[in-house]
Amino acid sequence: MYDYLIVGAGLFGSVFAHEAKKNNKKCLVIDKRNHVGGNVYCENIDGINVHKYGAHIFHTNDKSIWDYVNQFAEFNNYINSPVSISKGKLYNLPFNMNTFYQLWGTKAPDEAKAIINKQIEKFGVKTPQNLEEQALSLIGKDVYEVLIKEYTEKQWGTKATKLPPFIIKRLPVRYTFNNNYFNDKYQGIPIGGYNKIIDGLLAGIEVRTNVDFFKNREAYKNIAKTIIFTGKIDEFFDYKYGKLEYRSLRFENSTLETDNFQGNAVVNYNDGDIPYTRIIEHKHFEFGTQPNTVITKEYPEKWTPEKEAYYPINNDENQNKYERYRKLSQSESNVIFGGRLAEYKYYDMHQIIASALKKSKKEFGNKVS
Ligand SMILES: Cc1cc2nc3c(=O)[nH]c(=O)nc-3n(C[C@H](O)[C@H](O)[C@H](O)COP(=O)(O)OP(=O)(O)OC[C@H]3O[C@@H](n4cnc5c(N)ncnc54)[C@H](O)[C@@H]3O)c2cc1C
Repeated sequence: MYDYLIVGAGLFGSVFAHEAKKNNKKCLVIDKRNHVGGNVYCENIDGINVHKYGAHIFHTNDKSIWDYVNQFAEFNNYINSPVSISKGKLYNLPFNMNTFYQLWGTKAPDEAKAIINKQIEKFGVKTPQNLEEQALSLIGKDVYEVLIKEYTEKQWGTKATKLPPFIIKRLPVRYTFNNNYFNDKYQGIPIGGYNKIIDGLLAGIEVRTNVDFFKNREAYKNIAKTIIFTGKIDEFFDYKYGKLEYRSLRFENSTLETDNFQGNAVVNYNDGDIPYTRIIEHKHFEFGTQPNTVITKEYPEKWTPEKEAYYPINNDENQNKYERYRKLSQSESNVIFGGRLAEYKYYDMHQIIASALKKSKKEFGNKVS
């Protein structure tokens, strides 16, 4: 008999298991994949840590979360500075003075602000009804048309005029020459990849991979006093209220006989006639000097239940469905639901860690981290 059965060896499950072990609880962690780590898992190819489920850059403003992850791995000083290619021209991201120079030749913040404000004013819509209107009212026509429209339509597989405005709540705009994508105080990549963090979290804990909770649900339900469930909440309740929807991705990896393919870890492709949204060159996350390189083309795809669920589609219909599942989950007295799939929510890694620590604290009192 275990104190906790943890379903899912992703970041949420691993942090919870680590805290439980520190509190002398006996845990079993299971995962249906053939490895631990969930979506932060790295596969080593030719000495390069390949982010198998999409590029992951750690960033946070919270010192306690930064200190927490630094217990398990040393972080390098990687700063995410993606570039975007649109109609054969290259632009810096996030939208900043470099981007505005590339678009209009403006050199001073006031010049760039004047162009953007004039375009916003000309558009004149105060209550945007869709994503296109939202973007035009926040940043104006040029940035929207060159750097947002086609990329976003590829990402969601829908015209921007058919997408809800809430997808773009804010647009990161900087009137300084600063290509750092994130505003957070702490940022980097764990040296040696994310597996180091997961292995550190799960050290000394019993883990079984290739085990799907639902294939042997009754046996697993009785194996522990409490279950930590980080899989899909709708699947847990046998899709009683229907399936929650996601957007999926397909990753196409290639190993190339060159030491440097694109000179940057992340290059976005804005044009609609290019089917992928970005190319990741993994070695640049860790300043690799290997003779070869591994690149990944990222293709957004329609989600079907046999595919990986990447981004929740939090429209009203799905959100209402999720609320019904959430209410149902409250009646499961010995199950704690957590993580991106059980909460049907996009979380960054630092937020998932904070969420797992919060639930651990509730369970074990203050004897956490
Ligand atoms: C493309 C992409 C890029 C991202 N980039 C960043 C980034 O740059 N920075 C950042 O901070 N965050 C990023 N994230 C977010 C990050 O991946 C998540 O915050 C984190 O992985 C969530 O951890 P989790 O444990 O909730 O979920 P997961 O990592 O998905 O773990 C859940 C685990 O549960 C297992 N499981 C599910 N059902 C069952 C079952 N029935 N039986 C057994 N096991 C089961 C799954 O196999 C999986 O291993 C990105 C996410 C995506 C999709």
